[in-house]
Amino acid sequence: MGKTVIVTGGSKGIGKGIAATFAKQGANVVVVARNLEAAEACATELAGDNGNAFAVGGDVTDRESMGDVMKNVYEKFGSIDVLCSNAGIFPSANLEDMTNEDWDLVMNTNVKGTFHAVQACIPYLKQAEYGRIVITSSITGPVTGYPGWSHYAASKAAQLGFMRTAALELASENITVNAVLPGNILTEGLEGMGDEYLKEMAASIPMKKLGKVEDIGYAALFLATKEAGFITGQTIIVDGGQILPEN
Ligand code: NAP
Repeated sequence: MGKTVIVTGGSKGIGKGIAATFAKQGANVVVVARNLEAAEACATELAGDNGNAFAVGGDVTDRESMGDVMKNVYEKFGSIDVLCSNAGIFPSANLEDMTNEDWDLVMNTNVKGTFHAVQACIPYLKQAEYGRIVITSSITGPVTGYPGWSHYAASKAAQLGFMRTAALELASENITVNAVLPGNILTEGLEGMGDEYLKEMAASIPMKKLGKVEDIGYAALFLATKEAGFITGQTIIVDGGQILPEN
């Protein structure tokens, strides 16, 4: 592939799956996370898998941090071709008990974090042969609801509103902006929801299993190809058919 690909939240879970998928294609993959040690361990693992992976510490909630990440990556590789804006959190809080702090943390990470990462990479994507932005949203919010996640669901729907307007603004720059909407994918983060949740979710999926992180990786890879260049402002649901049943 020979492209430089940044994956926010790339040190574990879905982001690591996305990073691994691009690394296998020969991309220079930059894994961004707050915990630099974890990001470095991930990059070492992926680089050993025939890929080129590098770690950079960064916090998507911090505008300056995202600016620094993009600048450092550009100085190292001479281009930024793809941003996978994937970092996100999903703490649970019932609506009646939800505090402003709960709400703000989720919005600042998932929505404002997407804004920071996308805005910071625009000057560099404009210089690329073609630029690609792939946002990790969710079925929760845009399509479904789940008790305890009203803030999270709102954040994931907000990402799509942001994506559509960003796609319009960047269309003339040969930059596409699309989103992948995962269903339930087995990640470290989701494991934290506990066995009962994982069993309940697997049972509700027509394919009777949770998704793999690579399932999201391949969807992101497709949207990042040259061949997907006429697709912008769109979504791909990757959920094993979870949203299909009428009852
Ligand atoms: P995860 O396993 O908890 O991994 C989250 C990643 O994001 C980590 O690399 C974490 O590293 C990073 N991160 C968190 N806050 C950050 C911040 N402020 N700045 C930079 N990096 C940050 O989560 P996941 O399950 O893979 O979820 C990843 C994305 O997929 C999220 O956007 C989530 O909403 C979406 N999603 C997941 C599922 C699912 O089933 N798992 C379903 C639908 C959508 P550090 O903590 O070191 O920063």
